[in-house]
Amino acid sequence: MPLAITESADLTALNAFGIAACARRLITLSEESDAPEAIDQLQSAPASLLLGAGSNLLFTRDIDGTVLKVSLTGRKVFGATTAGIGPDDANVLVEAAAGEPWHDFVLWTLAQGLSGLENLALIPGSVGAAPVQNIGAYGVELGEHLHSVRALSLEDGRPCEFAASECGLGYRDSRFRSATGLSRWLILSVRFALSRNSRPRLHYPDLQSAFPPTAPPPSPLDIAQAVCTIRRRKLPDPAELRNAGSFFRNPVVDATHADRLSANHPGIPVYRDPAAPHHAKLPAGWLIEQCGWKGTRRGDAGVHTQHALVLVNYGRARGSDIAALAADIQASVIERFGVRLEPEVVFV
Ligand SMILES: Cc1cc2nc3c(=O)[nH]c(=O)nc-3n(C[C@H](O)[C@H](O)[C@H](O)COP(=O)(O)OP(=O)(O)OC[C@H]3O[C@@H](n4cnc5c(N)ncnc54)[C@H](O)[C@@H]3O)c2cc1C
Repeated sequence: MPLAITESADLTALNAFGIAACARRLITLSEESDAPEAIDQLQSAPASLLLGAGSNLLFTRDIDGTVLKVSLTGRKVFGATTAGIGPDDANVLVEAAAGEPWHDFVLWTLAQGLSGLENLALIPGSVGAAPVQNIGAYGVELGEHLHSVRALSLEDGRPCEFAASECGLGYRDSRFRSATGLSRWLILSVRFALSRNSRPRLHYPDLQSAFPPTAPPPSPLDIAQAVCTIRRRKLPDPAELRNAGSFFRNPVVDATHADRLSANHPGIPVYRDPAAPHHAKLPAGWLIEQCGWKGTRRGDAGVHTQHALVLVNYGRARGSDIAALAADIQASVIERFGVRLEPEVVFV
């Protein structure tokens, strides 16, 4: 089947911010066998982008090149390994193609009787983008259950399989992430090591409230449903109010800076990890709120009224409007706290 190619493509519906942007050419990749031809097309274009569901991107301009939308589908229980992987002796391998919607995939794993991904329910986006920023929520990161990533090099089309340990996973980071949205690798599919009997991960405060220790232990599906309820209560739905979730990462500072901030700003939440005693993580949303940004609106660009970490497009904001608001937020957080906020969203 030939590649689906659209010239002068409107990307407004293909990004969660709903930013009006145009690509010189949009290619939709639905069959893995077409991937080498799609890579040839990307190599010949001046500026190009890999696109999943557009949930973590901010278009700041039109794209004078080719956008490759990855729409590969398919999921399977791949098999069982003899050795357990990870803390719950996870040994059932599951594979999903890069274009599968993440949340549907999570529900499907639960329907197979497999657990591990339940805390990551309802994160928007595709399976292929999940390792790119090592998605995480409610006390669990993708990396804890990642087995491997199958990809093609965008430089020469070479196939490669990366074990989880080779993916360079960090806090909202990996070897596949790039500041410009065009990494060196086109991810084709992702494999996960899941379990038939994992321990519930309920240490996150919202989940502790949902499942008090005196109650019977919840099933993985109970946990996924609770996560969905909490997320729907807390986060704006991009279908109703355009946004890309958390705009900035939670900054990690050295421990002495954190001590100074605690002394000067009583009440500042500081997360310390005994395994990394020289560093501490700060909640970006709290820092932004303290600088008075929550609920700010400039034209159609704004900071959500309930959640200072979420920037929103009330209608016709341009990417440059959101970017200018983000830059002013960064400047005020540096001025007040001496802390630099790094965007989690990829600027294109
Ligand atoms: C309301 C909301 C809530 C969110 N909550 C969370 C959360 O709790 N935790 C969290 O971690 N994230 C969260 N996010 C961010 C987002 O859901 C994730 O980053 C998600 O993985 C993005 O998937 P996507 O398919 O939309 O990727 P896109 O936005 O399309 O792309 C993101 C990056 O991945 C690259 N990419 C996409 N597909 C591929 C591929 N096949 N091969 C190589 N590179 C690729 C792109 O080039 C780009 O650099 C949230 C977003 C929204 C809108």
